[in-house]
Amino acid sequence: MTKKPRADPAALTAADPAAIVRKLSLEQKSRLLSGASFWTTAEAPGLPPVYLADGPHGVRRLDADVGDIEGAVPATCFPPAVALGSTFDVALVERVGEAVAEEAKRRDVDVVLGPGINIKRSPLCGRNFEYVAEDPLLAGEIGAALVTGIQRRGVGTSLKHFAANNQETERMRVSADIDERTLREIYLRGFQRVVTTAQPATIMSSYNRINGTHTGEDRRITSDILRGEWGFEGLVMSDWGAVHDRIAGIRAGLDLEMPAGGEDRVKEIVAAVKSGALDLADVDRSATRVVTLALAAQASRESGAGSAAGGTSALAERGHDPEAWHDAAHHALAREAAGRAIVLLKNDGGLLPLAPQTRIAVIGELARTPRYQGAGSSQIVPTQLDDALSAVQDSATDVVFAPGYELEPAGVSAGSAGGAASTGGAGSAGRPGSTAGRGAGGTRGWRWPARAAASADRAEALAAEAVAAARDAGVVLFFAGLPQSAEAEGRDRRDIELPAAQLDLLDRVLEVNPRVVVVLSNGSVVRLSGFADRVPAIVEGWLLGQAGGGAVADVLFGRVNPSGRLAETVPLRIQDTPAWTSFPGTGLHVTYGEGIFVGYRWYDARDLTVQYPFGHGLSYTTFGYSGLGVSTGSTNGSITEAGLTARVTVTNTGGVAGREVVQCYVSLPGSPVPRAPRALAAFAIVDLAPGESREVELTVARDDLAYWDVRADRWLVEGGTYRVEVGASSRDIRSTADAEVRADAFVAPLTPQSSVGEAMAHPVIGPTVTGMLQGAGMSDDVLIMTQAMPLGRLAYQPGSGVTHKQVRQLLDVANGTGGLATRAAGRLLAATNRLRRGSR
Ligand code: BGC
Repeated sequence: MTKKPRADPAALTAADPAAIVRKLSLEQKSRLLSGASFWTTAEAPGLPPVYLADGPHGVRRLDADVGDIEGAVPATCFPPAVALGSTFDVALVERVGEAVAEEAKRRDVDVVLGPGINIKRSPLCGRNFEYVAEDPLLAGEIGAALVTGIQRRGVGTSLKHFAANNQETERMRVSADIDERTLREIYLRGFQRVVTTAQPATIMSSYNRINGTHTGEDRRITSDILRGEWGFEGLVMSDWGAVHDRIAGIRAGLDLEMPAGGEDRVKEIVAAVKSGALDLADVDRSATRVVTLALAAQASRESGAGSAAGGTSALAERGHDPEAWHDAAHHALAREAAGRAIVLLKNDGGLLPLAPQTRIAVIGELARTPRYQGAGSSQIVPTQLDDALSAVQDSATDVVFAPGYELEPAGVSAGSAGGAASTGGAGSAGRPGSTAGRGAGGTRGWRWPARAAASADRAEALAAEAVAAARDAGVVLFFAGLPQSAEAEGRDRRDIELPAAQLDLLDRVLEVNPRVVVVLSNGSVVRLSGFADRVPAIVEGWLLGQAGGGAVADVLFGRVNPSGRLAETVPLRIQDTPAWTSFPGTGLHVTYGEGIFVGYRWYDARDLTVQYPFGHGLSYTTFGYSGLGVSTGSTNGSITEAGLTARVTVTNTGGVAGREVVQCYVSLPGSPVPRAPRALAAFAIVDLAPGESREVELTVARDDLAYWDVRADRWLVEGGTYRVEVGASSRDIRSTADAEVRADAFVAPLTPQSSVGEAMAHPVIGPTVTGMLQGAGMSDDVLIMTQAMPLGRLAYQPGSGVTHKQVRQLLDVANGTGGLATRAAGRLLAATNRLRRGSR
C-alpha cells in the first residue's frame, strides 16, 4: 500500500474544490472524470487517488489493477445483505458498518462500494443475496444503517445499484420498463430513504436502462430526482463498465466513470467540449465532485478518523497485537449479527433448542463446507471460517456426521444443480409454457454416461451412509442449500428448487427418522413446500458470513434465542411470484407489469397462500400484544407532519428471554387508488425477560403514508381513515387501530380533457355542477355516461348549445382564473339535458 503525503486535515476540509478545479486545464479536468485503475480515481493535484473497494459485508481490498478475488487481502466476512435484512436490527447493522469501516481504513480503502439495496422483485434474481428486502422501507432502513455506520468512521460508501437493477439477465442492456408510480414507490423509495437520512458519499448508477434510457444517462434519475428532489450532495459513479455514452452521461450528472476510461476517453471529453456538444460547466461540476471526494478521503486519512475505541496504538500499549485483536472482535460481531439473522421458520413441538446430550446426526456437506457469501464482486477472503459441524460438535456430546451429498457433483453442468441460468439472452427454460427446470426433477444436470454412472454410485454411497447415520439419532440436523453455482452475480436462477439430490436424501432420511431439523443455506428463497409439512423444524440460515457456523449452533442449542424475520416472502411455488410471467423479459425489455404489488403486497392483494410470509420468524419464547393505541399528534384526530405514533405493550409470555420484532403495517381501505392491503410503515425491536412487558413505540412519518400521484406528479397523502396494524409478521397481525388522516391540499387542475365526473368532484365548481345534474332528473345510465365525457367535447356535441368559450369559462373558475361559474355550469346542465333526450 502506498505511502501517503502528510497534509493538514483542517486545511483539507477547508479547501475549496471548485478553486482547485479552476486551476486545471480542460484535459486535466477531463482526466478526473474516469478512474485511473480498476479501483482508484485519477489524482487531483496534490491529492492521492481515492481507493474504492467492494464489499459491503467486508472489505475486498485488491491490488490496484487486479479485478480478481485471488489478489484480495483477508478481511472479516460479515453476513451479506440477505442476512442483515433479516435482522431488522438497525443498531446492529450500524455496528457492522463501523467495523467494516475500521477494516477499510486499516487497508487504506476510502470508499466501500455498497450497500446494495435493490428490491428483490423476483426470487430468481441471481444477486438477491447482495440485496436487503422485497420491501422499500426495510431496504432503506438497513441500507441507511450501513451507510451511517461506515461513514461515521470516516469511510465513504457507494449506494448501489441506482436504480431498478433487479435481475442479472442482460443486466448491462435490459430496459426495466416501469410506470412512474411503481418506480417511485417501490424501486426508488429505498434509495430516497438512504439519501435523505444518511447522505452516502457516492452513488453507483446501475448497468440497466429504465424505460429505454441508460440510468447513467438519464438526467431525470441521476440529477433531477437524486439531487433536485432528494438533496444528494455526493458523487455519482458508474458501475464497472456501465458507461454507454460518456458525453450523455456527463450531461446527465454521471460524474465518474469506473474503472479506467483511458486516454481515449479524455480526448473524447475534450473534443466534446471544444465542439460545443458538452458544456464546460458540466465538466467542471463533475471534476469538482471528484476533487471534493478526494479532499474528504484525504482529510479522513490524515485525521485518523475511524479508529475504534481501542485504537491501534492504545492496543499495542496494552500488549495486544492490534490486527489479531480486531480480527477476534470483528469475528465475534460477525457471529452476533449472523445469530440475529437466522430465521426459525418452524419448530413443532419445541424440537429446538437442542439439549447438549441429544444424540445428533449431522447430515449434509453444507454443515462441513459452509456456503457463507455469494459469488461475484462482493466476495471477500475471510480472516477465518467457522463451519456448523465443528460448532455442533463443540456444543454436544454425541454427534455423528455424514456428508450425504456432494455440493457441486462432478459432471453436473454449471447452474443445473440449482437451476442457474445463462448470463445472456432471456433464458427460456423454466419460463411459463416451458417444462424445463420445474419441480425437483428439473434440477438434475446432464452428464457424460460413464462419469454419470461413477458419480451415481458415489452419490448412492453417500446417501446410504447418511440414512444409516440418521436412523438411530435423537435428532437429525439436515443441512440443505444451494451450491455456489446456483446463484451468482451475472446470472439468474431458473427456479427456486433445492438440488434434487438433497431433496431425495431428505425423503429417505425422513423414512427412517421423522425428528429432522432442516437447516438452510441459500442467498434467496428456495421452495420448501415439498417437505415443509413433513419436517418438524426448519431453520433459515441464509448466507451468514464467516462466523455463520458458530451462529447456527448458537441458535440450535438456544444460546441465542432466534429473532430473525423474513425480509422476503417464501412462496409455495415460483409460479405464484409477482414477476413470474415477465421475468427476465424478452427483446432487452422487461415489463414490471405487477406494478407496486411486489413481494407481500402481491400475495396479500391476491390473497395467495404462501409458505412463510414476510416478517415471519419464530422464537423459543412467545409474545403477547395488548393495548394498541394510535396518537396522531393533533387534537382534531388528523395527523401532523410528524406522523402517527402507535404504542403497543408487548409481553414475553414464555419461559426464556427473547426478542420480538414488532411490525407496523398501514393501509387505507376503500381508497380509490390501488393500494397494497398492508405496507410496512415502521418496525421496532424489544428484548424481554420472561414475564416482562414493555410499551413499544412505532412512529410512522406522515410522508410514509403518501403515494405517488401521476396526475399531480408528486407524493400525496390521501385523506381518510387509515388502518394501523401491529403484529409479529405481515400475516400475524395482533392488534388493529384506526387513524384519521387529513388529505394533502391538492386539487388537480381541470382541463378540457377532464371529465364531467371530475368537474363534479371539484371543490369549487363541483357542488354546483353536481346539484344541477342531479336536479335534471337523469336516469342512472345517462348520468354515468355523462360523467365519463370530457368537458371539452361537450362543445362538439350536436345541439348541446355549449360553446368552447363556455367550457373555458368553467375551467377558469375551477382553476381560479376567472368567474361566471354558474352561467357556465348552466350551459353544462343544458347540454346534459339534450344528451338525456337524445338517449331516449
Ligand atoms: C458490480 C458492482 C461492483 C463493481 C466493482 C460490478 O460488476 O455490479 O456491484 O461494485 O463491479 O467490482
